[in-house]
Order: sequence, then structure tokens, then C-alpha cells
Amino acid sequence: MLILLAAATIINVAINFRDYSYTNALEKSKMTAEVVRDGLTAHMVNGVMDKRNFFLTNISQYEGVKKLWIVRSSKVDSEYGPGLPKEEPRDEMDSRVLKSGLMEKLITENSDTASLRVSIPYIASSLDTPNCLSCHHVNEGDVLGVISMEFDISNTRSVGMFTVLRIFGLNVIFIIIALFLTNYYIKPYMELFANLQQGIKKAHLGNFTHRFTTKIKGEGKEVANEMNQLFEKMQDAFGSIKDELQTFVARSNISDADPLYEARHIIHELSDIYKFKKTIELDKDKYAIYQRIYQLLEQKFELKHFALYEVNHSRKERELLYITQGDSFCSHDADTNALECRAYRTSTDIISTDFPNLCDSCDKNGELEYACLPFIINNDYSLILSISAKEKEELGNISLKVTSIKNYFEAAKPVIESKILMDILKESSLRDGLTGLYNRRFLEEYIEQEQAQIQRDKTAYDILMIDIDFFKLVNDTYGHDVGDTVIRALSDILKESKREADLAIRYGGEEFLILLRHTTPEATQKVADAIHSGFRSKKFTIGSETMQKTLSIGIAKLPQDADSIWKVIKYADIALYEAKNTGRNKIVYFKSEMFEGY
Ligand code: GH3
Ligand code: MG
Ligand code: MG
Repeated sequence: MLILLAAATIINVAINFRDYSYTNALEKSKMTAEVVRDGLTAHMVNGVMDKRNFFLTNISQYEGVKKLWIVRSSKVDSEYGPGLPKEEPRDEMDSRVLKSGLMEKLITENSDTASLRVSIPYIASSLDTPNCLSCHHVNEGDVLGVISMEFDISNTRSVGMFTVLRIFGLNVIFIIIALFLTNYYIKPYMELFANLQQGIKKAHLGNFTHRFTTKIKGEGKEVANEMNQLFEKMQDAFGSIKDELQTFVARSNISDADPLYEARHIIHELSDIYKFKKTIELDKDKYAIYQRIYQLLEQKFELKHFALYEVNHSRKERELLYITQGDSFCSHDADTNALECRAYRTSTDIISTDFPNLCDSCDKNGELEYACLPFIINNDYSLILSISAKEKEELGNISLKVTSIKNYFEAAKPVIESKILMDILKESSLRDGLTGLYNRRFLEEYIEQEQAQIQRDKTAYDILMIDIDFFKLVNDTYGHDVGDTVIRALSDILKESKREADLAIRYGGEEFLILLRHTTPEATQKVADAIHSGFRSKKFTIGSETMQKTLSIGIAKLPQDADSIWKVIKYADIALYEAKNTGRNKIVYFKSEMFEGY
């Protein structure tokens, strides 16, 4: 701005000077012309016209007058005879002015010199004093002659140039001082700004270690100090927040982005996982949790094609828990031999894009991309999540979600484990330790759950109550251990004789119940016969001795005999009692007459 202002001033001054010197020379020329005219008139009046050259030469000595000459018109020549030889028109301008009676001027400039050439007409006028027309026989307004001059205006121009140069010099000095002062006072602010910018850039990347310094005193210093305090605080609070949060939850795309955003993401994820965990903790069993996992995979992670399997480690069996649609892209061979599943066998993530034909069981046709992720729940169970995609790019997008999916599985793991443990505990509390059959407690829970359905659906049950004949004798003769062997042998026979859907329960010491659901009289008889004869024919070897035992069975039916299971059990017991009373080693069906004794 300063340079522009200086340049504008210099140009303006230069132009003004040129105009001034030109106008000045023009004025001078007009005045000189007046003097010449008056001088010539005086010469004429005094009759010393022939001495005019002396006069003109003297005038030529005036400052700045380079040349001065006069031109006589032909009218004056014809009146008074020709003038002096030098009084002829010397150039075109003289001739034109002589003819037109109008003043003409011309500036000639080059790098060294500048001059003004002027021709001023001498016009006859009766109004002049003395009256021109009193001596000249010419008309009013006729051109009597021309006064021509050449003025040297180089001097004025060089003065102008000098002035301009002086202004220029002053401007340069002023600009230098202004720049120096600007630099001196503003540079520290610029440096502080640059420093602030640098620090803020680092802070964006989570680095709050930058410290601000400035030479400025006062406000600038305060700003730097406050920024330093703020950064120290930020470093304390957020410096390591990302790393610390990552110990709670793994992040796949650990970016160099703003750590606060990253921290916010992690906290969101932690919060979501926490809610998920709280929810599944209240779920009924592991299957309810699996259900919630499918929903999560479908809704939150927007997986379109996936299957979830549970693998039983001891049996090496894989069970399909859920599949989105269609058949699994994994071979069914892996269901019966889980070791066929590479993800399970190696306990590593299997990503098809890593290596062609990575898993022998997966996608034999090579049409899909897949990611199979194993999650070990405990010593007995693992989960396998198999995700498929049509294209590499789709699988690539899915891979970005894998870390987050794993975080959810990790959170679910202890909950699933505790549900499995609870199931085992419950199961063991409902089973008899000696025989592995359900116990009486199970019967109570079962009946409680079933009763309503039995009445609603009119479920039919035939109930067998079985008791070993003279069992006490076995204990008394051979001891308790042999008694236990006999009880176990009977329980094995019960398991073999009943159908898959029927329930066998150890009801008391050596008393057992069989609940036959939706059976026929023939089938019930068949089961009872199988138990009866199977036990009777069983030989027990005790040392050198061999023992055979018999048992008695009482049978009652729902709904024929009674409308509740407990009543039917009671009636089966009555029938058993009848069998015992009438000689034992027999099968007796309940009859209402039997009840009369009670
Ligand atoms: P009955 O023909 O009238 O049934 O005669 P019993 O001798 O079999 O009489 P009961 O059915 O009343 O006998 C039950 C006996 O079974 C009493 C108890 O000592 C024995 N017992 C109960 N539980 C067990 C067990 O778990 N192991 C062994 N070894 N004996 C048991
Ligand atoms: Mg008995
Ligand atoms: Mg008994």
C-alpha cells in the first residue's frame, strides 16, 4: 500500500511539474510576445524600426528564450517594402499562423531536452493604442506578422525531475522505516500466531505436549500462558485417554484421528456393550443369549448372510444355532466332526481373502468370500460365527466390523459360561447321582410345569411304579454296595426298555417311576414286560454266588384312573402295593376297587 501510494504521488507530481513548466513557458511566451509587439510599435512610432534587431536580440537574452524571431506579413511588405531577410516564415507553423491568425504551440521533448515552440499572430486592431489602422492600410483583424519563439523548458523539467526524485527518496526512506517498525512490532504477533497454529494442529492429533512461547509482553504473554495452562490440563485429562480406554475394548481402526473422537467412540461402544451384557445376564438360558446375538448381528452390525454354530468340545459335534437364509455354505460333515471346521480346529479367524481355498469345508464351489470366527466359551463349548459375502469388497467392509463383533462376544462369553454352569448345576440337582436318572425333585418341577398343559391338551400318561422285591435282603446279605449295583442294573434296564420320549425317575430308594406319554395299552404292557422280565433274568455275581431278583410293577393311567398326575402316581403306588400283597414279581393295573381300602 505504501509503495502504491508513493508511486501515485510521484506520478502525480511528475505530471503536475510537466504541466506547470509548460504553462509557465506558455505564459512567458505570451508576455514576451506582448513586449515584442509593444517594442516594435514603439520602434515604429519613433521611426527607428530599422533598429529593431538590436531590440529583438536583447529580448532573446531573456531567461529561457532559446530563439526569437518575427515574420512580416505580405501586406506589411507591400506597404513598407520587404522586411529584413530573417523575417520570412521559418517553418510551417509560421506560415499557418500567418494565414490563420490563430496562435499555435508545440512541445518537443526527448530524454535530454524539452522545448516549447510558439507562434503568436500580430493582428491589426483599431482598438489598440496606437491604432494600428492609423498607420497600416489594412483591414481590422488582418495579420500584420507573427512573433515566433522557442523556449527551453529543460531546466524546469530537470527541477521537476529532481523534486520527483527527492519525493521518491523520501518515500523509500519512509517505507523502509514503516516496514522496519511493522516488522518490529507485528512480527512477534505473527510468530505467536504461527506457534498457536502449530500447537493446535498437534492437539488435533491428540498431542497436547506443545508449549507456547512469545517475546510479546502484556496480552500476548497472557494468551501464551493461558494456552499453556489449558494444554497442560488437556494433556493430564486426555493425553492417554485413548490408550487407557483401549484396555477396555479393542478397536479395529486405531486411527491417528482426534483422540477425543476416538475416546467418544470407545465410550459409546463400551456403553452399548455394557447394556448388552446387563440384558443378557437376565436372559433365561444360553439359547436366549444366542437369540440376542443373532439380533445384534443382524440389526446393529447389519450382517446379511451368516450362521452361528455351537461346538461341543468333548463330542466334537457342531450344532447350527441360527442361519440367516438358505443352506449353510459350510459342509455338513463339520457338524458331525467339528475338526473339519478350520476355525474351530485352529482357533484362529479364517478369512477367505487371505488365501485361496483356505478351509476345506467352506464354499466348495468357490463362489463366495467368507470369514469364520471362533469364540471359545469354556472347556466344553465354542461358538463359530461364519459370515459370507458375494464379493471381496463386501467382505472387506465386514472385516472392519470384526473387532467390534468380537468385543460383544467377549462380553457375552462369561455370561454364556455362567448360564451353562447354571444349567449343569440345575441338571445335576435334578438327577440322581447313583443312576443318572431324574430324581423326585425333577418330577415335582416337571409336574408343576406340565400340569396346566396336561389339562389343556388332555395329554394321556400311563405311569409305572416299580419296586424291587425283598430288596432289604440284598443289603442285609451282601451289603450296601451290592444293593447299589442292583439298583444301577435296574436303572440301566429302565433306560433300555422305555422309549426316547418317556421319562424314567428314581422315585425313592429302590422305587422307580416311568411316565409313558401318549402311549397305547399294548405299548405300556410291552414296556412293563420288558422291565419285568429284563430284571428277573439279570444275574448278579457276588464272589462265587449268583443272585437273581424280581420286581413288582403297579400301573395307573391318566386320564382313565384320575385327572392329575399326582393322583395317578398315587394309584400306581396302590397298584404296586396290590402286587406286593398278592405275591410280588408281577404287573398289576390299578382298579378303583383297590382304592377302597384307603
Ligand atoms: P418289598 O418287597 O416289600 O419291597 O420289600 P423290601 O425289602 O424291598 O422293602 P422296601 O422296599 O421297603 O425296602 C427298601 C430298602 O431299600 C430300605 C433301604 O435300606 C434300601 N435302600 C434304599 N435306598 C438304597 C440305596 O440307595 N442303596 C441301597 N443299597 N439300599 C437302599
Ligand atoms: Mg422293595
Ligand atoms: Mg421300596
